[in-house]
Amino acid sequence: MAEIKSVCPTCGEDTHVYKVSQIYLEALMRVKNKENAETPLMDTLKSELPPERAAKMKDADYYHYVVESFAPPQGGAQVIRSIDPDWVAVALGLLSVYILYQIYFAQHGIFWGMLAFAGVVLGAYLFFRKQIKLKFETEKRRESGDKDLIERAVGNWMKLYYCSTDNIVFGWKKGDRIPLAEMNQYLLQNSMKK
Ligand SMILES: [Zn+2]
Repeated sequence: MAEIKSVCPTCGEDTHVYKVSQIYLEALMRVKNKENAETPLMDTLKSELPPERAAKMKDADYYHYVVESFAPPQGGAQVIRSIDPDWVAVALGLLSVYILYQIYFAQHGIFWGMLAFAGVVLGAYLFFRKQIKLKFETEKRRESGDKDLIERAVGNWMKLYYCSTDNIVFGWKKGDRIPLAEMNQYLLQNSMKK
């Protein structure tokens, strides 16, 4: 596959320049499919490792290391979406009706006490509902903001190139050259909306 190469701003050459997303994908394939994967780029990169480092690292470790180092920015722990508190209230309400119904027949003695308690809880929810809802809306906005940021950062990650001679990434913003270890931070910081 013919590829347009980019010239590294540090060494001024394109001989050891590779696309970051392609390195990542090949390393992933390598980790998943082991020796069966066709990964010409990985083979090249690996052959460029200084011999003393190559000797220290097992093949599998090397590919895991590459996957981790070149991975696109990720969303972290935001997988858990907030649930609208009204739905929680409705679900709890239905559950209490069911429990009260059971109590009415099985333990009639405490029924009125429990009913009053359920009433107090419902009252408290309605009283604080506005605040609870506001907190929920804020949280939801923050989550979708994070998602947009990650999406933009991944889009910019796809523009990056890596020069193995200098261990830097570049190619997104003209003149920027970033050590590989700082790639993620660089992407997230610069992908924020101004
Ligand atoms: Zn270079």
